[in-house]
Amino acid sequence: MSERERLQNYIEGRFVAPVRGEYLPVYEPATGRPFAEVASSDRADVDAACIAAGRAARGWRETPVEKRAVILDAIANKLEAQIERFAGAESKDNGKPVSLARAVDIPRAVSNFRFFAGAVQHFASECHPTSADVLNYTLRAPLGVVGCISPWNLPLYLFTWKIAPALASGNCVVAKPSEITPVTATMFAELCGEAGLPPGVLNLVHGTGPDVGEVICTHPTTKAISFTGGTKTGARIASVAAPLFKKLSLELGGKNPVLVFDDCAFDEMLATTLRSSFSNQGEICLCGSRIFVQDAIYERFKTEFVARAKKLRVGDPLEPTTEQGALVSEQHHAKVRSYLDLARKEGGTVLCGGEVISPPGRCANGWFLSPVVIEGLPHNCRTSQEEIFGPVASLYRFKTEDEAVALANDTPYGLASVVWTRSLDRAHRVAASLHAGITWVNCWMVRDLRTPFGGVKQSGVGREGGWEALRFFTEPKNVCLKLS
Ligand code: NAD
Repeated sequence: MSERERLQNYIEGRFVAPVRGEYLPVYEPATGRPFAEVASSDRADVDAACIAAGRAARGWRETPVEKRAVILDAIANKLEAQIERFAGAESKDNGKPVSLARAVDIPRAVSNFRFFAGAVQHFASECHPTSADVLNYTLRAPLGVVGCISPWNLPLYLFTWKIAPALASGNCVVAKPSEITPVTATMFAELCGEAGLPPGVLNLVHGTGPDVGEVICTHPTTKAISFTGGTKTGARIASVAAPLFKKLSLELGGKNPVLVFDDCAFDEMLATTLRSSFSNQGEICLCGSRIFVQDAIYERFKTEFVARAKKLRVGDPLEPTTEQGALVSEQHHAKVRSYLDLARKEGGTVLCGGEVISPPGRCANGWFLSPVVIEGLPHNCRTSQEEIFGPVASLYRFKTEDEAVALANDTPYGLASVVWTRSLDRAHRVAASLHAGITWVNCWMVRDLRTPFGGVKQSGVGREGGWEALRFFTEPKNVCLKLS
């Protein structure tokens, strides 16, 4: 393997090898073959990154907000000019269709930087004239050095979702992208340096969760941790970081319900529900995986949904016509498939999918799986309750609105939810009753970066996006002044 394909840490504006000199293989999911290797760092590298971030902290905090915004905008512009290059790299590293990376992942990463470059300029300290002789104001100061840890499913999109508000509000960052998909974050770190981000403001330490992630979470230098990933990992992070009084934002897993009422706009619902189940191979925390359909339209929905799922084009992510690419790893592929056997044992019927697909040519050994639709599962079984995070949708039949809401709320998760109805009353009523951080009515994945994003129950703690993110990455300081 050539030196060029080694992904190194990015510390103080330079690529550096991990102190212990070890590397992990990086696989292309579509071929099942390693194509690069990534630094397998440990505490020594996190220490170096924290020292670099600490050294840069004062200069960055004191950089006027307008100047920080100019640099963030320059980063967004540079990334926008290279959408094609980044989309190709993301698709190769993650297995997602390049068309999706080009249309969603990379443009949304651009938007993250552009949005927070603008938003931070309107994020002012507050003044409260308490009375004629008492002035109260609240300053918002950056925290200093913060840790950002992101997953493999939307690698650059979620990496930038965290670091853009962290940097905009004047913090220096020690970040760890997923060791499974480290490529675009590494390219991006270099791009940030080229766009004028001072050395040490953004540092990247590659490696595993236990060797690097956990060290970032417990390091005395990091004041806050913004984490997106699995619920178990979130619980682990909370358990090690809470005794150190770190500020935490945890964006975790989901088992999202889609409620389809019989008065919905059927065709639009069908097309969007298909997308919400199988987009990005079902590897989006917001994917609808439990589909509740009202009695009168259940059979029609089932027939048409299964027919459409069977027609989805699964194959080489680099082909422009591919609709579903490869699952991210061999281990994840096996985990998703294991739920098919479990579903059958739990009383479910697999209506379609679950075949391991071997496309002709270069992708013959990739980790492909045809989209799965299951029905007949009891709602309290593991397949209905656990996050599968793959192209697997389960159908359930309901009669009344109350029944649908009760079933939808009956999981440990509470991230996203979707309601399909033409009734305005019902839309508002059901949206207010669902235990979820976000409810989409008659749509899915529509995002406005000003809105709060996050989950309830085991889907997370805290909110990101808009003011929420800028509040998270700053410390409020109230000053109360008696005028004499
Ligand atoms: P994961 O929890 O395995 O890993 C996420 C990140 O945490 C990786 O960078 C990993 O190396 C790191 N990590 C692992 N163990 C750690 C530890 N002990 N301390 C610190 N860091 C550690 O998750 P994943 O498999 O990469 O991603 C899939 C999960 O992410 C799914 O559950 C999905 O629902 C969730 N997710 C949630 C959201 C959201 O916004 N709520 C968005 C995307 C993905």
